[in-house]
Amino acid sequence: MNCVRCGSLLQEGDQVCKYCGEKGEEVNAAPEAVVKKIHVPSLVLAIVGLVFALLLPLVAYPCLIVGLVLAVKKRGTHKTMAALVMCIIGLIVAVVNSALGACMAVAELMYVFSASIL
Ligand SMILES: [Zn+2]
Repeated sequence: MNCVRCGSLLQEGDQVCKYCGEKGEEVNAAPEAVVKKIHVPSLVLAIVGLVFALLLPLVAYPCLIVGLVLAVKKRGTHKTMAALVMCIIGLIVAVVNSALGACMAVAELMYVFSASIL
């Protein structure tokens, strides 16, 4: 893409033209669209994953892992850092929750087993 004022070639993500300092519409429009495409999914996945980590850990894993991968790939901004931290917290919560669930299942089995013996 080119600068609207001087026509020089611009890098994707350049807010301002390096040569003349013009803030063209073309220059501004593209980075915003890219930002929306990249950051919202990882943040949404992180939030959805966190909710499911508390309710259904098995559903949370794919959301959190995809969110984490997206956030790691596009790290560098506050939103992706927030998504990254939320995914890590979500994964920890999901692991603890599924471990607790497994322990409770084992405890219940043992209770049923001991009750059937007595
Ligand atoms: Zn220019």
